[in-house]
Amino acid sequence: MGLLLTGGSVFDGHRYRGAASVLLDGARVVAVGDRADLRERDGRAREVDCAGGLVAPGFVDAHVHVAQGGLERLRCDLSESATAEECLAAIAAYAGRLAPGDWLLGGGWSMASFPGGTPTAEAMDGVTGDRPAFLPNRDHHGAWVNSAALRAAGITRDTPDPADGRIERDADGHPTGTLHEGAMALVGDLVSETTDDELYDGLLAGQRYLHSLGVTGWQDAIIGDYAGMMDPGPSYRRAVENGTLTADVVGALWWDRNRGLSQLPELLARRQVLSSGRFRATSVKIMQDGVAENFTAAMLHPYLDRCGHATDNRGHSFLPAADLRAAVQALAEEDFQVHVHAIGDRGIREALDALDGAKPVRHHIAHVQVVHPDDVRRFAELGVAANLQALWACADDQMTELTLPFLGPQRSSWQYPFKDLQRAGARLVAGSDWPVSSPDPLQAIHVAVNRVAHGDEAEPFLPEQALDLESAFAAYTSGSAWINHRDDAGVLEPDAVADVVLLDRDPFAGAPEEVGATRAVQTWVSGVEL
Ligand SMILES: [Zn+2]
Repeated sequence: MGLLLTGGSVFDGHRYRGAASVLLDGARVVAVGDRADLRERDGRAREVDCAGGLVAPGFVDAHVHVAQGGLERLRCDLSESATAEECLAAIAAYAGRLAPGDWLLGGGWSMASFPGGTPTAEAMDGVTGDRPAFLPNRDHHGAWVNSAALRAAGITRDTPDPADGRIERDADGHPTGTLHEGAMALVGDLVSETTDDELYDGLLAGQRYLHSLGVTGWQDAIIGDYAGMMDPGPSYRRAVENGTLTADVVGALWWDRNRGLSQLPELLARRQVLSSGRFRATSVKIMQDGVAENFTAAMLHPYLDRCGHATDNRGHSFLPAADLRAAVQALAEEDFQVHVHAIGDRGIREALDALDGAKPVRHHIAHVQVVHPDDVRRFAELGVAANLQALWACADDQMTELTLPFLGPQRSSWQYPFKDLQRAGARLVAGSDWPVSSPDPLQAIHVAVNRVAHGDEAEPFLPEQALDLESAFAAYTSGSAWINHRDDAGVLEPDAVADVVLLDRDPFAGAPEEVGATRAVQTWVSGVEL
C-alpha cells in the first residue's frame, strides 16, 4: 500500500531538501521528490497532508537504556519534575495509586532540585506516610529515601558508612534521607527484585514513549547484569518472539571488568542466542571511567578542590590501559563493535589508544565530555565515531555547580567539542542516555545547535562548538543508523527502510532558538503508522 507524504519539507538523513514529497511503498521508501512526479509513479497511494511540517527519517538513539527508562515511567517518574515541590506532588499522586504497605519505587529526580543535591526523608514523609520509599536520582549515583525506609533498613545514627558509599547526615550524625553510591544498597537490597514481567512491560512502555518522540531504532547501551539492574536481554528476546518489538535495535553486551578475556566465549554465545528479528546483540559495552560530577571520570591531571587547588584525585580508569586494549582488540577480531563509555580526557585517550589498529567494526566512544585537543583528530584517523549526548552540552546547574569549578578554566573549555570533532572529520552519532536525561531528540538537537537548553536564558556554553542544524539531524539519523550497521536506515532515499517521522513544523525554516519547540506528530516503522 503506497503512502504519499505531501505538503511538507524534507530532511533526507544527510541534507535539508526544502519543500518536497516522499513516496513509501509498504516497508520501503520509493523516492523523495516533486508531488506530481511521485503521483505518476503510484496513482493509488494514500496521501497524507504534512501541513508544513518536516518529514525526516526516524531518529536513531545511539545510547539509551529503554527497559530501565520504561520501568521508571511505569513507576513514580520524577524525570519531568523540575523542583522539589513538583517532585513531592508527583510522589503524592503516585502514592495514592499503591496498595497499603507497598514500597514506593521509581526515581529520576535531579540533584539541582534540592539544596546541596540532598533531599530529606522528612520532606517525603509528609506525602508518603508510613509506606517505605526508595527513589534513585537520575544518574543513579544517589537515592532519596523516607523515614519508613530508613527504619526498614535499620539505618540510624550508629550505622557506619559502607566502604563504597556515604549516608548523608545532619550535624548530630542522624541520617537525613539521601544515600550516596554504595550506601544506596542498604535500602535497595530490601526492595523486592524487578520481575521479568515488569521489565518486559518496561521495555514496551519505553518503546511506546520513544516512538512517540519519533525514535524508530536505537542501541541499548547495557545488555547484561550491571549495578543491580536487571539484564534486559531476555525482555528483548521475548519481544521478538511475541512480535512486539517494533523498533530496530542493537544491544551492547556488558563487559564485566572483573573477568577479562575469559568472558569472550560467553559473549559470542549470547550474541548468537539473543540476535533475532529486529534485535542484534552485536556490540559490546565497556565502561572505562565514571562521571565528572563525582570525580570518577578519568583525568590526565587532578581535579581541583573548591578553592581551585589541585587534589591528588585523577578519577578512575576501570580497566588498566593494557587490559582495555587487549579486550578491544580481541572483541573486534570477533566482529564485535566496541562501545566505550569515556568522559574524562584520560579515559577518552585510553579508549582511543585501545582502538588504534583494531579491526574496523564501526566502534564508538560515548559521552566524549572532556577531550584533550591532541585527541580530537584521532577519532577520524582511527575511524572511531563520537557518540554525542548533545543535551549535556550546556551550562546547566550540573555543569556550573558540579563540574566547572573542579576542572578549572582550561579543561572546562575542552568539553563537548562537537564542531572541532566535525572539522577534524570525525563521524558524529547521537543518543540520549535516557533515563539519565530526556530521550527527546529535538531537545538534544536544540542544544547541539544553540549550546543552551530550549527556553533557558543562560549564556550559550562554548558556542564556537555548536553544530549546524543539518549536521545535528544527520548525527541523530544517518549517523546513528550507521553505528547500528544499518546503511538502509536513517535516510530517505530509494529502497531505504520506511522508518519515518513527521514533525509539526519545519525547524530548518524557523529561528534556531525555536528548534526545541518542534514536536513529533506521527511515526512510521517499516511503513506502518504507530
Ligand atoms: Zn548510558
